[in-house]
Amino acid sequence: MNYNKLISERLKRIPPSGIRRFFDIAAEMKNVITLGIGEPDFVTPKPVCDAALAAIQAEETHYTSNHGIPELRELILEYLEARFGLNGYKTEQAFVTVGVSEGIDLAIRAITEPGDEIIMPEPTYVSYMPSVLLQGGVPVTIKTTADNDFKLTRAMVEDAITDRTKAIILPFPNNPTGAIMTREDLAELVPALNKRDIFVLSDEIYAELTYGSKHCSIAEFPGMRERTVILSGFSKAFAMTGWRLGFAVGPQEIIDAMVKIHQFTMLCAPTLSQIAGIEAIKDALKTDFADVNSMMAQYARRRVFLLDAFREMGLSCFDSRGAFYLFPSIKHTGLTSEEFCEKLLIEKQVAAVPGTAFGKSGEGFIRCCYATSMENLEEAVDRMSDFMRRF
Ligand code: PLP
Repeated sequence: MNYNKLISERLKRIPPSGIRRFFDIAAEMKNVITLGIGEPDFVTPKPVCDAALAAIQAEETHYTSNHGIPELRELILEYLEARFGLNGYKTEQAFVTVGVSEGIDLAIRAITEPGDEIIMPEPTYVSYMPSVLLQGGVPVTIKTTADNDFKLTRAMVEDAITDRTKAIILPFPNNPTGAIMTREDLAELVPALNKRDIFVLSDEIYAELTYGSKHCSIAEFPGMRERTVILSGFSKAFAMTGWRLGFAVGPQEIIDAMVKIHQFTMLCAPTLSQIAGIEAIKDALKTDFADVNSMMAQYARRRVFLLDAFREMGLSCFDSRGAFYLFPSIKHTGLTSEEFCEKLLIEKQVAAVPGTAFGKSGEGFIRCCYATSMENLEEAVDRMSDFMRRF
């Protein structure tokens, strides 16, 4: 059988994720310290795990509604109101997804026709572009730069909009740069999006992870709620990556369109994970987000430690205020991002991700995730300082 002919042309045009390639190399090596994979080093809080264990014992082993357990959908809305002041959504406007990953893919699939342009900042998280391409859409990237704290400005967005533009993806706080868009930054974009009738896919998975200023969703602005779908989940803030639990909240028609795909593809998010999600929100509301706050306190310490260390070893680094990533420049070494990361891995057994894994404009940068213990960070800094001495 000619498998090459069998496999879809659209799929063949998509390169494999540049993150995984690197970690496959690292997995073969000993004594590697990884600043690579973007996931919390903390385990899921105990009450959440206990709730899932109790659910197994109570034989909660069936499908849920396609939309998810009603109590969880209501709690998601309660959570958004408590944390980000997003109120007034109806339960029907929220549904539960398999990680925010599914929500992103569904939102793109629900709105994209072949030839439609979807704008996204670059460097950017790896899943947006493949989803757009698989749909026959055209990803339009806006290059963000360290000089501008990797933010989007109104002029940048206006320049990217054409008659084919359907939507923009706003992934802030950002992976890989750690950039945030403050309320003032977002306010600048709103008139441009309103004027040209652009829909927004707002990936807010790192909304809890900001340092120094509170996250603001573009859906808070007048006129934006009806043109925004909020995509988020439990992976990062609640240390629940393996549970695969996310949610989408937005205009009823868009949510219905997304659920239409979800009901044929996933049926529902995993039942035990949904039960765990209920406990995660309930426990957080009850304890005033004690677990989230304690994880954040540690990320905050690690962020400052790593930022100072990078600057001391001669890596200029933008003071990113979101997620758990730093994105230092390695341009002065004369190496490409790939070469730098490969040498660092082979010679010093420290794994970071080349900026180019997040698009061409990531060249000259590396992504370092500080969601790892202070002990690991100290060791990584020692090894990297040694490595940097030659430059
Ligand atoms: N969106 C961004 C910006 C991410 O960084 C990630 C994971 O790293 C995801 C989405 C995927 O999250 P989930 O585990 O909820 O699917």
